[in-house]
Amino acid sequence: MINLLKLIFLFIITSNQAYSDELVNLRFGSSEEKKRIVLDFTQDTFFKHKVFEKKIEISFKNKIKINPDVKQKNKYVKLNYDKSLNKITLSFNKNIFSTNVYLLKKKQNIHSRIVIDYFNKNNRKRIVIIDPGHGGKDSGAVGIYKNLEKNITLKVGLLIKEEFKKYPNFRIILTRDKDYFIKLRNRTKIAKQNNADIFISLHADFNRNSRARGISLYTLSERASDKEAAALARRENRSDLIDGVDLSSETSEVTSILLDLTKRDTLNQSSHLVNFLINSFKKDMNLLQRTHRYAGFAVLKSLDIPSVLIEMGYLSNKQDSKLLMTEEYQKKLSKKIVKAIIEYFYWKDKNNG
Ligand code: ZN
Repeated sequence: MINLLKLIFLFIITSNQAYSDELVNLRFGSSEEKKRIVLDFTQDTFFKHKVFEKKIEISFKNKIKINPDVKQKNKYVKLNYDKSLNKITLSFNKNIFSTNVYLLKKKQNIHSRIVIDYFNKNNRKRIVIIDPGHGGKDSGAVGIYKNLEKNITLKVGLLIKEEFKKYPNFRIILTRDKDYFIKLRNRTKIAKQNNADIFISLHADFNRNSRARGISLYTLSERASDKEAAALARRENRSDLIDGVDLSSETSEVTSILLDLTKRDTLNQSSHLVNFLINSFKKDMNLLQRTHRYAGFAVLKSLDIPSVLIEMGYLSNKQDSKLLMTEEYQKKLSKKIVKAIIEYFYWKDKNNG
């Protein structure tokens, strides 16, 4: 009887192992910019994947088989197949970065392909400071729907941090993760103490002209690019006045001296970051004309860290105000910001390591 049961059991196991999807090829492509691994399968397969610092795990829905001819190792990557978990692990000899894993369906082709695009990066984690503007007793702008700038900036900040969980090579630090007041100079202090790679401050503006709408991006300048930008900087810098310290006027002279001491590279880097942000936003979001502007924001004055201030829209405008209150739009914004940051570092890695 026991033997019979064993037989049935064996039969069930074997019948489950009737493979439909077979890995027949592992191909490797490499250009200076990107590396690519292609897994050729006999059929379209269903899979889930997870990316780690040095490996990618791909779990399959259907039992797969690895063709014995598949070369499971080269100098960049090693493939391991765990039969019991029905999972392929690709192990890399270097940390990988910005990985994209997707299926190209078979259609007219001989093979269905799982494509893995990635590139190597330096071992150090990138440290990104996200600074949700205002907080606590400083509510920032008050929107036409009585929506408060401090709440919108915090929500988008938290969503950015959440989105970055998919990218283990980044460490995201929020200057605040709750509704409390924090001085401008302490925001930049957090960036310096954590040896930040970049600093991004989130805001939403208010304009007397209720028709004004769209996203604008600011980098530091000793002179504002126009009156509007100067007025905006005054509004945003006022935050510290609420706490009885006027940082903005106190540092203006220092700022121009520092600027003369050629921190030009940092400013160039900030401008590059702005360009990646604009590219990420421009497809399906409203941008203010002359999207990149310059102003003397106290919060951008950590001159050795590329810093950008994003005004995510106008709370004085009906459409912008409504959008900025919805979670859908907040998510969209945060995803686009994350995309731009990743692309910026990709570009930076490629150019100067
Ligand atoms: Zn603000």
